[in-house]
Amino acid sequence: MQLILIQLNWDTVCLERDCYNIADINSVEGLCSSERAGHRLHLQRTEDMDHHLTSRWVIELTSEHPTAQLAAQELRRAIQRMGGPALNITGYADDRRLALRHGSDGDGFVRIADEHGLTLIGEGPRGLLYAVYHLLETLGWRWVGPGPADEYVPHPSTITFPTTTVAEQPAFARRGLVIGHDLFLTQGEAWIEWAARVRLNTIFIHTIADHGMPLGACRQRTWQSYRNRLWPLMHTRGLRLEIGGHHLTAAIPRRLFRQQPDLFRYDGRRRVANGNPCPTNSATQNLVYAWAKQWFRAEPAAAVYHLWPDDRLAGGWCACPQCAGLSPADQSLLLVNVMAKALAETNPHARLAYLAYHDTFAPPQQMTPAANVELLIAPRRRSYAVGIGDSKHPINGPLADAITALRTTFPAGAGVFEYYLDGILFKSTLPPLGEIIAADLRAYHKWRLDGVYVLLTGDRPWLAPGPNPYSFAALAWNPQHDPIVLRREYAAVRAPTTATLLDCAYAELTTAWQRTLNITPAEVQRQQLGLTRDPITQPPRDLLDGYDAPPPHCEQRLVALHDALDTLHAGETALAAARRSAHAEQAALAGDIAEWTASALVLRYFAARQEAAVVQARRAPPARQRQAIVTARATYAELLDWATRYVPHSARAGHRLLRAIFALHLDHLESRIAPPWRRLYLRWQRLGELVRLLAQLWWDWHTKP
Ligand SMILES: [Zn+2]
Repeated sequence: MQLILIQLNWDTVCLERDCYNIADINSVEGLCSSERAGHRLHLQRTEDMDHHLTSRWVIELTSEHPTAQLAAQELRRAIQRMGGPALNITGYADDRRLALRHGSDGDGFVRIADEHGLTLIGEGPRGLLYAVYHLLETLGWRWVGPGPADEYVPHPSTITFPTTTVAEQPAFARRGLVIGHDLFLTQGEAWIEWAARVRLNTIFIHTIADHGMPLGACRQRTWQSYRNRLWPLMHTRGLRLEIGGHHLTAAIPRRLFRQQPDLFRYDGRRRVANGNPCPTNSATQNLVYAWAKQWFRAEPAAAVYHLWPDDRLAGGWCACPQCAGLSPADQSLLLVNVMAKALAETNPHARLAYLAYHDTFAPPQQMTPAANVELLIAPRRRSYAVGIGDSKHPINGPLADAITALRTTFPAGAGVFEYYLDGILFKSTLPPLGEIIAADLRAYHKWRLDGVYVLLTGDRPWLAPGPNPYSFAALAWNPQHDPIVLRREYAAVRAPTTATLLDCAYAELTTAWQRTLNITPAEVQRQQLGLTRDPITQPPRDLLDGYDAPPPHCEQRLVALHDALDTLHAGETALAAARRSAHAEQAALAGDIAEWTASALVLRYFAARQEAAVVQARRAPPARQRQAIVTARATYAELLDWATRYVPHSARAGHRLLRAIFALHLDHLESRIAPPWRRLYLRWQRLGELVRLLAQLWWDWHTKP
């Protein structure tokens, strides 16, 4: 038998000459040596192939690699679930076969059709697994989220395999799902299986030390209790593990402050035991080095470690004479390099991340990263109304400049940490962001980032995943996908008989949120963590809480929010029609409708809060101002009613705590116009509620595994 070699740029693959048209193979070669990312090629053979599946077909696999074995099992199971025969898995077949092969490493794959069947060749074992999932997608399978209602299984009368040849390479080498709350860690098995099926290749467990408040990260203890169950699932699929979070301050225990205050930062007046340590102090560096080494040894399986500084907007670094000349980014990178030395000695193949976030977003000027340090960009203070690459946008434009500058500073690699599944940033909802995700990932690809990660966090489990997880995964593989098509596919899986109506409702919700998310720099400046003694006059405020920005911003925001509410009417009509006509998919559709409703209620609350702020700014008559507060409190009550129906008891205290921030915003506005007795009452009432909720949460965190 004659053999030819095809150089596919990632590996050298042997193929039987009889099977192929040489010109076609040259096309594959041409594709792979040119710009590969996101491209695909379909080659049609001239003669007919009989690709109808019968019980004579077999799966051919010689590899004993566990990921390749899983690929064969997944293929076999899927064919059975489609109504096909249970195919034998054999080491050799000369006809009617689905041949599975792989090289040493990588995510790319080719699928070659010939008269004997199909040959799936992965760059590495994981690439082969992706080739199998891709083949199943071609046969009609979809996984639009991690649950059973998110899976579509086709049931054709006969299964016919494609007769096209396909070559695929991902646009981004690393495509990660960041699990950022215990709630999602408890669903970890489903999320990991889903991540592999949609060709993500990294699971990042975002942790917080056990003494911290795990509102936007997994407790280390929870991860440790799940690790033995979840790590084998990742390992079998060839998924990489990344781990960590804002842990750095744990390197310098607060109890050392009395004896060694110089370990801690100088705030311009004195040493203080908050924020980050003094990075130029050699004793600090020794402690950080030893602590990091322990950390790396405790989590030996990770490919990338994240030991980030404190989660603050600004002001958490040192101003002592030795540090004063170093920017926050330089101070941070100094300690990252100390830890990178410990990592190189402990695990020379692993990397350590430097986090560009808030005040470390500007590139470091004086420090250069160690060889095993890579960049993680977290552009949280941005607008999600337009793509990150929109150079004319007053918020995103400067961020884009900083990202391109950062990229050149970190030659070892760069990834971006995005927030499309962040229930904290988006107020316990998930705005559909398909078009923004597409625009972002095209920009990140243009800027030559290697990795894209999405943070999955929130204060409650989702009743439906919404279109974002599926859109993110598909676009991380190929940013040229059409986000509208992806949203449509989501709707078709969740509600097959009313897909058009559900898609229409999501389209309207997308527009409504787009208006809401189009924030201005004046509004962003209202952001504050609210870590003060008086949460009434200085409540915590995140990016979407710039309600009392000065005119004309507050007035413009009100107009935008009223436009958003107008947009929702068409979506409500579509959902009502879907509810009337749906039958089989009632449960899944009910989940989407409930999530849609929560999103709409949050937008109503925003509009009512804005109205209260605007009538104050206009100095409307006191009765009008009071009435606006009463109306806003009614929208807040609707949000609490929704939570009573849909938030499970185990998540209720955490959800109520974050929702209480909305009440604090209304207290803040009311306290400006209320008589002293009322202000006192508000303060007493709200503090009582916060204490009760925090006590409940501390009890849960410290008594439940
Ligand atoms: Zn210092």
